[in-house]
Amino acid sequence: MILYDFTCADGHRFEAGIASMHAPDPACPVCQRPSSRRPSAVTMAGQADPGPSRDEMPRSWQAVRGGERSTLDGWRKLAVEREKLEHKYPELGGDRRPVLAHEGIFASNPLRVGDDIPSRVTEAIAETKPTTQAEIPSKDTK
Ligand SMILES: [Zn+2]
Repeated sequence: MILYDFTCADGHRFEAGIASMHAPDPACPVCQRPSSRRPSAVTMAGQADPGPSRDEMPRSWQAVRGGERSTLDGWRKLAVEREKLEHKYPELGGDRRPVLAHEGIFASNPLRVGDDIPSRVTEAIAETKPTTQAEIPSKDTK
């Protein structure tokens, strides 16, 4: 027997035990409509959401809607939580070297202190250049 939380189409929430993970979801005890499983509180506490990583956080004024107050507050809260999490699990910290460039060709993969700059530039340009038919080596040209 496994305990799950369910929500029915009408929004009633209830807890029920089912025989196995693959057993059908029970009907709502209030309105008898079909229900669907919700992640249980126990599961959520067991595997906390790590939230966005540093690389996923906004870096520009545009990304925070020009500094809109609630957007900034929301991101600040996430950043503080992430900071605490990384303090506890340093392996989640990722690459913490200072970023030298994160725009244009480095938008998807920032240039950091200690990177070999010429090779990173070549790499980044190659990645941003759209691949055309002519650049794909054909078997016929051998
Ligand atoms: Zn219901």
